[in-house]
Amino acid sequence: MSKMLIFTAPSGAGKTTIVRHLLNTFPVLSFSVSATTRKQRPHEQDGYDYHFITKNDFIKRIDTGGFVEWEEVYEGLYYGTLHSEVDRLWTAGKHIIFDIEVKGATTIKKAYPEESLVVFVKPPSEEVLFSRLRERNTESPDSLAKRIARAAEELTYENSFDYVLLNDDLDTALAEAEQVTRDFLNL
Ligand code: ADP
Ligand code: 5GP
Repeated sequence: MSKMLIFTAPSGAGKTTIVRHLLNTFPVLSFSVSATTRKQRPHEQDGYDYHFITKNDFIKRIDTGGFVEWEEVYEGLYYGTLHSEVDRLWTAGKHIIFDIEVKGATTIKKAYPEESLVVFVKPPSEEVLFSRLRERNTESPDSLAKRIARAAEELTYENSFDYVLLNDDLDTALAEAEQVTRDFLNL
């Protein structure tokens, strides 16, 4: 049976870094490419990192029941998991790995309690989280401020999920993420 491995955390905690490492390490995993209305970052590829779509298109898909879950993560910016994406990967017999925020992770866990494992990626401190976000250098001052404002609330979800993965030393966190994946998928 296919399973769902969900990584969640505040922006900047290291989800993308960990998820990309696991995708490179375990070929049985496939990434659930979310839809978003935010602007594409220079190094990102449409259809690989996200399906970059317009707000009109996003709202049309909400109205036609196209999403497993969706959230207005930041004011005016929508992100969501498409049914078509999950169905495609499931039909291909893949285990699915997700990088989504805490509310979406909660929704998927409720919808698929048996099939899913939610891992909360915990930064060592708020200060380290904010400095990682700043040093990533991908956000405008306005976007950075929105992410920092949301982070405190997201950090309160730490104990709402199946597993807490501390991301302090990166190599340690990656090794632990590999072990969690092996245990969950019986590899
Ligand atoms: P998220 O996907 O949760 O927003 P990223 O994976 O983009 O987070 O990580 C945010 C930034 O922090 C990136 O620049 C990444 O290279 C860096 N980073 C991730 N994990 C660590 C770590 N353990 N130590 C130092 N820097 C890290
Ligand atoms: P970013 O703009 O940094 O790529 O993502 C912002 C936040 O949105 C991150 O916490 C990311 O995990 C989350 N996110 C990405 N895709 C989805 C999705 O499909 N659904 C939900 N609920 N959140 C998502």
